[in-house]
Amino acid sequence: MKTVLSTCPYVPPEWVAAHDLRLRRFRPGDARSAAGLAGGAGVCPYARDVLRAMEAASVTEDTAGVVITTVCDQMRRAAGLLPGTDSRPVLLMNVPTTWQTPAGQQIYVSELRRLGRFLVSLGGRAPDDRRLADTMVAYDQARFALKECRRRCSGSRFSRLLAEFDEQGPGVSFSPSASGPADAVKLALVGGPLWAEDAELFEIIESLGGNVVLDATTSGELVMPDAYDRSHLADRPLEEMARVYGRIPDAFRRPNRALFEWLGRELAARGVQGIVFRTCLWCDTWVAELVRIREGFGLPVLHLDVDGATPGCRTRISGRLQAFMEVLR
Ligand code: SF4
Repeated sequence: MKTVLSTCPYVPPEWVAAHDLRLRRFRPGDARSAAGLAGGAGVCPYARDVLRAMEAASVTEDTAGVVITTVCDQMRRAAGLLPGTDSRPVLLMNVPTTWQTPAGQQIYVSELRRLGRFLVSLGGRAPDDRRLADTMVAYDQARFALKECRRRCSGSRFSRLLAEFDEQGPGVSFSPSASGPADAVKLALVGGPLWAEDAELFEIIESLGGNVVLDATTSGELVMPDAYDRSHLADRPLEEMARVYGRIPDAFRRPNRALFEWLGRELAARGVQGIVFRTCLWCDTWVAELVRIREGFGLPVLHLDVDGATPGCRTRISGRLQAFMEVLR
């Protein structure tokens, strides 16, 4: 099956699957030393590595096209650095910053339709409402199973399951595994997107006696859409998809109170003892939230500013994580 690449949680995989294509929502590898567009100026390290991965995948895989979204200036710039070709067209999809108005939702519906036309141009088949609704239900059920697993998984295990689901879709089986030790320090990981190698960050935390019980990054639970209202699927499934995806909280949304409401609810529900706030170099979108994260929840906050995936800054962050954990114990 032809594959479409994206890293953005606002590109619904069920919309792509309903067109008989596969969305591969991936976490890029750290490519700081790679040549090519990855060295392009004017983008954050994460956007740089997304570009590098898209560039590499387009020559080695069955990649039909690429979707980049306008969630921040760096990603807009990234889209400009990745010219579309006949063999790898690029769509820059607008995700409205304002989410609570009917106009914002209409823009998002229009962009989903534009994405649909792009998918058809790649060889996809436009779905009827019945097929779209069935596909939405299949993804809904898979996400429900994944969320059920969450309570029974360590942070590292759940992060791996989520990455598999994002890459492969609802065919992944979510077998639970041992949860973290009961006396582990309960942490929330909050911030922007993760690299593939950031699996090591969860493992470092566990080796130090902690456990990420809440992955509030834009690769984690924060951006998992809510369940669909099944009563809306029969006649207007696309509008229901836009409603649910349009409410995913994120730092770039305006107003972004939904992010803080979500965090307040989940931090309390999971008994979080401390927050690891992880931001990427030059990511103004998330760095701007540091003061509110520090002041908003009455929890200790460790700010990690990284310029790439965890292995590249292992020594620096391990010492700081260890000191943070000692304070929390
Ligand atoms: S890490 Fe921040 S600046 Fe970089 S692409 Fe993501 S949101 Fe944009």
